[in-house]
Amino acid sequence: MKGFRIRDEMNGVVEPPGKTWFWELEAGVIFADRCIQCGTCVAVCPSNSIGVNNDSGLPELVKMCTGCSLCWDFCPRGGLRYEALWPPSTTDSEASEVPVVIKSDSADTYWKLTGGPPGDGLGAVIGEYAVRAGVPADDVQDGGVVTAMLLALLAGGDIDGALVSRPSDNPDEPWKGIATVATTAKEIIGAAGSFYNQTMALAELDLSRYDLPPKPRLAVVGTPCEIQGIRAMQARRWPTGAHRIDAVALTIALLCTKSFDYEALMLRELRDKRGLDLDRVSKVDVIHGRMIVEYRDGSVAVDEPIKDFHGSALKGCDECADFLGRGADLSIGSVGSLAGWSSVLVRTEVGRLAFDRARGRLDVRDLDDREALVRLDNLDKRIAERTLQRKLDPDGPLFIDFAEHLDSYRGTDRAPVVRDR
Ligand SMILES: Cc1cc2nc3c(=O)[nH]c(=O)nc-3n(C[C@H](O)[C@H](O)[C@H](O)COP(=O)(O)OP(=O)(O)OC[C@H]3O[C@@H](n4cnc5c(N)ncnc54)[C@H](O)[C@@H]3O)c2cc1C
Ligand code: SF4
Ligand code: SF4
Repeated sequence: MKGFRIRDEMNGVVEPPGKTWFWELEAGVIFADRCIQCGTCVAVCPSNSIGVNNDSGLPELVKMCTGCSLCWDFCPRGGLRYEALWPPSTTDSEASEVPVVIKSDSADTYWKLTGGPPGDGLGAVIGEYAVRAGVPADDVQDGGVVTAMLLALLAGGDIDGALVSRPSDNPDEPWKGIATVATTAKEIIGAAGSFYNQTMALAELDLSRYDLPPKPRLAVVGTPCEIQGIRAMQARRWPTGAHRIDAVALTIALLCTKSFDYEALMLRELRDKRGLDLDRVSKVDVIHGRMIVEYRDGSVAVDEPIKDFHGSALKGCDECADFLGRGADLSIGSVGSLAGWSSVLVRTEVGRLAFDRARGRLDVRDLDDREALVRLDNLDKRIAERTLQRKLDPDGPLFIDFAEHLDSYRGTDRAPVVRDR
């Protein structure tokens, strides 16, 4: 089975441990409260057997699982070793010349969560800037750079659309981000700003309901875990389903230390506990270790330490060591730049071309505080390392071999968990 060859390449599993079924992903990741709702499992399934549950927003089986194992292998909380997809750290001058090397020796430091050249500093970067849009669109989060770039690329015919996150149309879900492919300038502008919930974004790459050319070119804006899923699917040939990874021409990672459960954060913590009127909110921000929520009249509705909201964060985010979105063409966030500006890390030549295309719409200067990015990245990695060590083996080495530890996630029974359906 083709899937097993990919397992060997991806996981360095000498003897593939046999089929892994969706129920095992369910038991080991989804029911274990570790899913970070990236949608990779939906996008990768060659038989289109995985969908998104309307109530929980989590992946669910919608038709027969063939046991091809790919949902497990490509899941950032399952078998995917996403660090293997990070290009090596480089200096500005040599970055474009150094090819990406994917090592498969699991004993190599390359696989460690901390240390090793690929994780150093900011990762592979060929340009680092503080940037803001010359004329920012309404409701942008920081410098309005993502929106300005997407508008420039669409206007220039470089992309046919962008996978972004727009506000939900459902009046019962104020401030919930929903994945969508924006194909017009109006839709891109309507999706500006940050939504602090995951959207199962990659599931939206089944483009059948969008009016796009037969060979569409899309930009994907996503949290680093979503970019990890895309990079893995781009790097490995797998038996394709309905989802059009081939359409992804540009990846933009939003810097991210954690995301949240929509109902827990927006409805229970902010609306119910603190009495916020969510219809009046203009911006939700997590910055300098604080949760800050502003109303449209300029008043600050909430300004509290982020630790007060930890209970609403996705548990799977604690295992994430990729604050900086190392696999993306461009990484963009607020840390490292003054208010009203965004920090932009250009990582690849594709990213450079896209950035240059938008240059006429942007104010660009040197990054204000590079070290702030490195510091937060180191903290993020330390949390991930501690979380994983605690989960897997408190006395074990730092090397995390997901395949070896598969059993500890899914219980000792090697047989698939069989459920009544
Ligand atoms: C969950 C989350 C956590 C973040 N954490 C940090 C952090 O810790 N440190 C930091 O420096 N920056 C963080 N950011 C990034 C920051 O909030 C801004 O998105 C970034 O600075 C770009 O600002 P901008 O004004 O250029 O973007 P804008 O021009 O406002 O465009 C933002 C784009 O992101 C898309 N988008 C919004 N929410 C989501 C989402 N949930 N999933 C996918 N796409 C989305 C929008 O549709 C839009 O296209 C985070 C973003 C998110 C969504
Ligand atoms: S983390 Fe992503 S790939 Fe893994 S189960 Fe959740 S949605 Fe699927
Ligand atoms: S912290 Fe990591 S896992 Fe969580 S949403 Fe951000 S990138 Fe994804």
